Amino acid sequence: MIAQLNLNTRQTYQPFYDEVASGWCVPPNPALTPEQIAGLRKDLQDMLANPACDKFTKGVLDQLGKTNPASAPFSNDALTLFDKQNGFNQLTSAPPFGQAYGTIGGNNAHINIFLPLNNATSHNAAARSMFHELVHNSPGSGGRVIGHPEMAQAAYAVAISQGYKNVPMPPVPGSKDNDFASSLYFEAREFDACRRR
Ligand SMILES: [Zn+2]
Repeated sequence: MIAQLNLNTRQTYQPFYDEVASGWCVPPNPALTPEQIAGLRKDLQDMLANPACDKFTKGVLDQLGKTNPASAPFSNDALTLFDKQNGFNQLTSAPPFGQAYGTIGGNNAHINIFLPLNNATSHNAAARSMFHELVHNSPGSGGRVIGHPEMAQAAYAVAISQGYKNVPMPPVPGSKDNDFASSLYFEAREFDACRRR
């Protein structure tokens, strides 16, 4: 998608944050219908019905608030963050499976998401992608998206404090490909806590 853009069109679009396209991107494809948004909200709710996942996601958002109080998440409840989004659009190809921009505090939080296929595993994966994006634009003030390295550090601290075993160290800040490695690291910790069992 990025490769299709020329420099002139890039400048008219919003900055997005995700592991593949952390630059400029066309707000892609159709806005989600109310039914599609309700479906994704239910996917998220189903994921959080797993108590370990609910505890992990709240722990990550609380931890980010502690380490970066100026950009503290608006809430530690992912469904509340979902309900504070200003809009959702569909990604029609993947990866990435999600993109976020804006912040809740800036009143411009927006997520683009790849819709799940019609099976339970795919719905759970979409919910995990959704949580990842909700963390990015969760700040209730400050206007700054939360980046992958911060997310990885928070996920590590929470996984250790919540008793997960064999938790690897997160990528070293500033190391090569740190952003992408941190994104994958965050997703691995989220997978441990939130995958469908
Ligand atoms: Zn991301």
